[in-house]
Amino acid sequence: MSKAVLVELEWWNMTEVCIPERSILYSPAPIGMGTALGESLTSYLARLAEAHCVYAGVLLQEMIVPLMVETEAQDNIFDQHPLWRRDGGGSHLINVTGPRSHAALQALKTLTLRTDLGGLALTALTKLLPIRGLLRNRLAWCTRCYEVWQSNGLVLYDPLLWKFREISLCTLHGVRLQTSCPHCARSLPHLTWRSRPGYCAFCTWPLFGEQPRVQEPIAPGTSEFIWQRWVTDMLGTVVAQLPSVQNSPKRERIQRVVNHAVERLTSGNITAFAHLLDLPRNTVENWSQGKRIPEMDMLLRLCYRLDLSLCEVMFQEAEALQPRLQGPLPSVRFSPRKRTAIDKERISSLLEQVVSSAEDPPPSLQEVGQRLGYQPTSLYKINRTACHSIAERHTAYRRQLREKRLQGYREEIRQIALLLQAEHVTLTQRHIARYLVQPAILRDPHVRSLLREVCREVERNFKGTLE
Ligand SMILES: [Zn+2]
Ligand SMILES: [Zn+2]
Repeated sequence: MSKAVLVELEWWNMTEVCIPERSILYSPAPIGMGTALGESLTSYLARLAEAHCVYAGVLLQEMIVPLMVETEAQDNIFDQHPLWRRDGGGSHLINVTGPRSHAALQALKTLTLRTDLGGLALTALTKLLPIRGLLRNRLAWCTRCYEVWQSNGLVLYDPLLWKFREISLCTLHGVRLQTSCPHCARSLPHLTWRSRPGYCAFCTWPLFGEQPRVQEPIAPGTSEFIWQRWVTDMLGTVVAQLPSVQNSPKRERIQRVVNHAVERLTSGNITAFAHLLDLPRNTVENWSQGKRIPEMDMLLRLCYRLDLSLCEVMFQEAEALQPRLQGPLPSVRFSPRKRTAIDKERISSLLEQVVSSAEDPPPSLQEVGQRLGYQPTSLYKINRTACHSIAERHTAYRRQLREKRLQGYREEIRQIALLLQAEHVTLTQRHIARYLVQPAILRDPHVRSLLREVCREVERNFKGTLE
């Protein structure tokens, strides 16, 4: 019998390993935080849904909204929360300020355990920024940015910067931001049932890649480009600051900045200050007394004329600022608000330029009027023929869009009808409406007759296959 050999085994340390708390949902990092291209809250929500392989609507309905209902019960702040709306109406408010974004951020913090989501929305600036005119109601995007990210293997997302109404160009690529899907021509809400950054929430087509029309780049020397670059700079720096804002700036800050500037530039004379900046006296007085705070377009104009950055105005000590008068704004759009003689020849030639330009989509006369600083009725008096051409071209474009949109609806209805038929459900308007992304489209009599037509077509084909 051999002698047993005792092998000494490794010692195990049995003290308990400390496992950090697990989050309920995955917790992907928000993209670009601390930079001008920081992600927006609606984009993060859509990406979070994608990470869980569900539609954004499912994530919101099942996970986020129940947590928000609790907040609602406590504060009773929501009349009708946009997250409940399947069609995404009002979802732009999630990115803005106030209770909606606050509650959504709170819910996300609970579910992902992340503490660095504060920069996704403008919640830190609630008191400084009036909601009116702040963000776009519908989505806007730069196709080139999406393309570059896609080809570099980066994740597609929607920066908060694209949500501002004052941003109309991507100055990085010198192109206008797009606002309708190149495939189905519909404009997109910021967050709806099937939202996914970079793709159409209705037809799921990519919003980048081959476009039906070639986008004309905007020349860097134009006043529009120069103004947009400055605005992008200003808003970009504010977006980059958002994650590090500890204490939300107070409403009185703007009042103090205005009073400080009035004191320095015109020794406290409000009338002279308003005159210097081409602003109505009442407006300046209201700011100076703190009765009103300027909306974003006015705030940017004020910053530009006073040679101050938006960041300085929002975050620095008002009395330490060094405002000084700077020349007029570099855009024809901002003509002085006072009455001046119209330079008819110049306006007429600008209108001719719009007619001969290949701008796409062709602008409406209203939009051209906004750029030039005149009402369409005044423009008609200056150059009737050019105005007619502009209006006609825009109408033709809108008609084309509508046709495309109806095509999109037709396809959506057809798919639903086929699905219902496979499950032996009768094809009625009520049954189909339940599965439409936007059931409200059935309010349009054209869409209703389209629905009847598609149903008849599908039924006919089905009978045909049985015979
Ligand atoms: Zn771009
Ligand atoms: Zn589409």
